[in-house]
Amino acid sequence: MTPLEQEIRALVESEGPLPIASYMTLCLAHPTYGYYTTGQPIGGRAGPAGTSGDFITAPEVSQLFGELIGVWCMERWQALGSPAKFSLVECGPGRGTLMRDLLRIAGALPGFKDAADLFLVEVSPALAEQQSRLLSPLHDPIRWIGDIAGLPEQPTILIGNEFLDALPFRQWVKTDDRWVERGVGLANMKLAYATRPAVLSPSDLPAGHENQPDGTIFETAPAREAFVEDLARQIATNTGAALLIDYGHLQPGFGDTFQAVRDHGFVHPLEQPGRCDLTSHVDFAALARRAESAGCRVPPPVTQARFLLSLGLLERAGHLGSGRSIAVQDTLRHAVDRLAGAHQMGDLFKMLVFGTDEALGEPQTGHR
Ligand code: SAH
Repeated sequence: MTPLEQEIRALVESEGPLPIASYMTLCLAHPTYGYYTTGQPIGGRAGPAGTSGDFITAPEVSQLFGELIGVWCMERWQALGSPAKFSLVECGPGRGTLMRDLLRIAGALPGFKDAADLFLVEVSPALAEQQSRLLSPLHDPIRWIGDIAGLPEQPTILIGNEFLDALPFRQWVKTDDRWVERGVGLANMKLAYATRPAVLSPSDLPAGHENQPDGTIFETAPAREAFVEDLARQIATNTGAALLIDYGHLQPGFGDTFQAVRDHGFVHPLEQPGRCDLTSHVDFAALARRAESAGCRVPPPVTQARFLLSLGLLERAGHLGSGRSIAVQDTLRHAVDRLAGAHQMGDLFKMLVFGTDEALGEPQTGHR
């Protein structure tokens, strides 16, 4: 039993089943035993170089990803009129790879890097340390903040890859025509799903909920919605744009998407608390509505494939591969396929963009 499991059991024994959101926060961000606070989660399988992690993210697949996100940021800065000072923010920067590739390519646009006040929003001291080692030689100063409330009042360009899915969510299970909260309790001396007293109001459910059979799960994510709303409000006041990339669905739906990953494989989310990455699919429609009601323009979210292709993924890969060895060209082809292939990250991952009119450009041309 992990030390965190002992703590969780004691909590359940004294307070009853925990909301999944509380369980997730303890598992990921517990100051001593949390998965992100203590571990080195991101990276390939253990290899000769000694690097290992539990999962691979898009920036770790290829430099193409960070470079194209960099192009998007530079376009937003120019659309804002190339302000002399702006906040360049990354939420959940992981190992810092995306920001490294972004800063490298951003060096090509005069004025951009000098204007950028760089902020990294990070919960994990171990990852902040890695970010500092990688990025401090490339940009100075860098400021680490715990959440976006610490950002200054100036134009803001913010990105986040696989950040939203790490924020906690809740589950509701249909039981006798009501949607009752699913929590984490104890059964037969083991952590097990249990119900909690809270009930979801029918007005918070998508159309068709009456026809779902008993046992159907619906997920809500108040912490993700609050984050997007706060951010959209700050951007609407100070001008700017945000790009949030995650796996999830464009339309709300029913079903259990709670997922735990360890060493590149799935495990049960209630097993080995604190030792696995816990996520759930992001409901992009709900987040888009929040950003809009907080005063931002929100082009319809699109798939990662469509977004990267429109930013010039194929052209950039062609440029990097031109005149290089067959092996380099194969690696690039493989990376393009992983990032934008239909059965890989291309369709599962979605891009949510929101911002002020000036930062996004003319409505009829969309954000690209
Ligand atoms: N963007 C990176 C890492 C994704 S993993 C990549 O694509 O490789 C999620 C990241 O979000 C980690 O850096 C993790 O420490 C951070 N994180 C998770 N929950 C957080 C929270 N509540 N506040 C700030 N950062 C958080």
